Amino acid sequence: MILQSSFLSTHQIIDTQQTDCCIVGGGPAGVLLSLLLARQGISVTLLETHKDFDRDFRGDTIHPLTMEIMEQLGLADRLLQLPHTKIDQLTLRTTEQDISFTADFSHLKTHYPYVTIMPQARFLEFLIEEAKQYPHFRLVLGANVQELIEEDDSIAGVRYRGQGGWHEVKALLTIGADGRHSRVRELAGLKPVQSSAPMDVLWFRIPRLPEDGSGLNGRVGKGKMLALLDRSEQWQVAYIIPKGGYQQVRTEGLAKFRQNLVEVMPEFKDRADTLQDWHQIAFLSVESSFVPCWYRSGLLLIGDAAHVMSPVGGVGINYAIQDAVTTANILTQPLKNKQIQDKDLAAVQRRREIPTRFIQAFQSLLQQRLIKSALDEQQTFKAPAFLRLPLFRNLFPRIIGFGLFPVHLKDEFSGLKNNI
Ligand SMILES: Cc1cc2nc3c(=O)[nH]c(=O)nc-3n(C[C@H](O)[C@H](O)[C@H](O)COP(=O)(O)OP(=O)(O)OC[C@H]3O[C@@H](n4cnc5c(N)ncnc54)[C@H](O)[C@@H]3O)c2cc1C
Repeated sequence: MILQSSFLSTHQIIDTQQTDCCIVGGGPAGVLLSLLLARQGISVTLLETHKDFDRDFRGDTIHPLTMEIMEQLGLADRLLQLPHTKIDQLTLRTTEQDISFTADFSHLKTHYPYVTIMPQARFLEFLIEEAKQYPHFRLVLGANVQELIEEDDSIAGVRYRGQGGWHEVKALLTIGADGRHSRVRELAGLKPVQSSAPMDVLWFRIPRLPEDGSGLNGRVGKGKMLALLDRSEQWQVAYIIPKGGYQQVRTEGLAKFRQNLVEVMPEFKDRADTLQDWHQIAFLSVESSFVPCWYRSGLLLIGDAAHVMSPVGGVGINYAIQDAVTTANILTQPLKNKQIQDKDLAAVQRRREIPTRFIQAFQSLLQQRLIKSALDEQQTFKAPAFLRLPLFRNLFPRIIGFGLFPVHLKDEFSGLKNNI
């Protein structure tokens, strides 16, 4: 209360809106949850700090389970009319071209036995257009949330800087879906526990030629490792470097970087020089963390705000989507009853905690046993034995495509435009 009054004495609030659910963050978790709640007639305000959804570093993968959820919503066919590519195999090769590992998604028992690659901005815009059909949905772009409203030890909404100054949204429930550097998490005093990731990522694009092949490929050798994601005319390249190694890469210079790239990926010899400036290459610090408690009275964290995902396996979007679905399944009725209790918020965390911890442990296994040894220049890379186990090869696409316990919408929440 003291903090709140000192805030109000120094900042003038232009307007105050009232809503049932205020969602901070227009990533996959926040956007899907907005749509799900708005479909149920719950008033939702979605606040996103950027002025659009175009972001380069979010990953473009839509996994089989997410497609099943789109099908439940009656949106799958229309979503697949947008430009996309489909990947049904993931292959890891060494520089000697030996195939060390192949994961085949095409055997999965689903209508969508592949990973759909679509610019995430298009996916989010598609969901936003759907949400806009519901009168209870309100989207504010350019809304940078910087304060929580606290009333009687409960979170009662947020304050954001937006058009013209400070605005307030008062809400029964505030959702922090604002990603890995969550401001809501910090303001609520919910501290993540970091687990160490042995690598960082350099993220850039290289032209893709028809004879290149397709899909999702990994290449490893000579102390280097990269992942290639088929983006039709281009490869999205994730060039993996040891944690903290970025300064050394910059000091060695761009010519040396191109040379290293060609060493691990000789096919890029004729186009490595399309990389002419460090601005074309984004540095992404890889993190992994888990918040021990995802909620406070009136507030819940979901997606990366609750558990930052390493990019290994490209599962972060899928997990953010599953958090949104679980939140809608559990909290729709309490929101309709206008009564959110801590036990409802705890139920969301309980449902999502084990699958999340499981996938983070799985990512950590791959990071420690595969990626760390791949980045060791002192030794010739030898694929770990578990990659050859048929059981692992069968389980891998399942775990990546669906997670540990696949989450679906409750029957009463699926179907078209019900319950407006
Ligand atoms: C290099 C890299 C590559 C990756 N590749 C993949 C991949 O291929 N596939 C995959 O599944 N996952 C991938 N991931 C992980 C994935 O990006 C995340 O797990 C996923 O985006 C989490 O979704 P989210 O909705 O929780 O948060 P985010 O997608 O991070 O969205 C959070 C949103 O909140 C907004 N926001 C932040 N602060 C505020 C504020 N104060 N006020 C208002 N809005 C705010 C942000 O602008 C953002 O739009 C990758 C991650 C990295 C680092």
